[in-house]
Amino acid sequence: TSFTSPPLDDLLLENVKLARFTKPTPVQKYSVPIIAAGRDLMACAQTGSGKTGGFLFPTLSESFKNGPRPVETPQDNQMNSFVSQFTSSKVYPSILILAPTRELVSQIFDEAKKFCYRSWMRPCVVYGGSDISSQIKNIQRGCDILAATPGRLNDLLERGRVSLKAIKYLVLDEADRMLDMGFEPQIRSIVEQNDMPGVNDRTTLMFSATFPKDIQVLARDFLKDYIFLSV
Ligand code: AMP
Repeated sequence: TSFTSPPLDDLLLENVKLARFTKPTPVQKYSVPIIAAGRDLMACAQTGSGKTGGFLFPTLSESFKNGPRPVETPQDNQMNSFVSQFTSSKVYPSILILAPTRELVSQIFDEAKKFCYRSWMRPCVVYGGSDISSQIKNIQRGCDILAATPGRLNDLLERGRVSLKAIKYLVLDEADRMLDMGFEPQIRSIVEQNDMPGVNDRTTLMFSATFPKDIQVLARDFLKDYIFLSV
């Protein structure tokens, strides 16, 4: 088994090679074709199983192939553009990954940086407990793929710094840990944002070590006709 079936984008394959990944882990082997086929996925997989590659490879591959999509931004009249030099603009990521901790979103960001090398996709990370204004400056340099903890993302949404209208892929990573940490209201608030594409207009991927009742309910509420994978 290799990374080439189903065919992934050439640039992504080069970056996978540069990362010295020679053989897919089991979760990668099964999740890549499911996601590449456009299906929603509920995967039970542990930390260390390679699940980050499992969702990054197919979502990045598809994004690389399609190239940057222009997002309509509100037409600025003169007054707006005068104001906007002070207020500055929103970012429109097309891939959003929610995870419970600073450590985890940072690891996802590091992997995303490796696999986005020489592509048009610009990865970013935001998390709580750290200065928000420097994170805002950072995302404004370009943010196509965003790894975020739920609380900090809600803060940025409330401040009008992030729009979810361009989201193609929504990933909930370590969903059971996010619920254990009390993030369910924050997650629901993000997924129910007015500008978040509905379940039929996005691909939703959920990863969790365990599959208890509350995760089943979340999967039922956020995913459509999903494939269940346990590795
Ligand atoms: P994860 O479970 O996604 O956090 O991955 C755990 C560790 O395994 C990370 O350090 C990855 O960089 C590494 N890894 C993931 N997939 C592969 C692979 N196919 N070959 C080699 N290392 C990998």
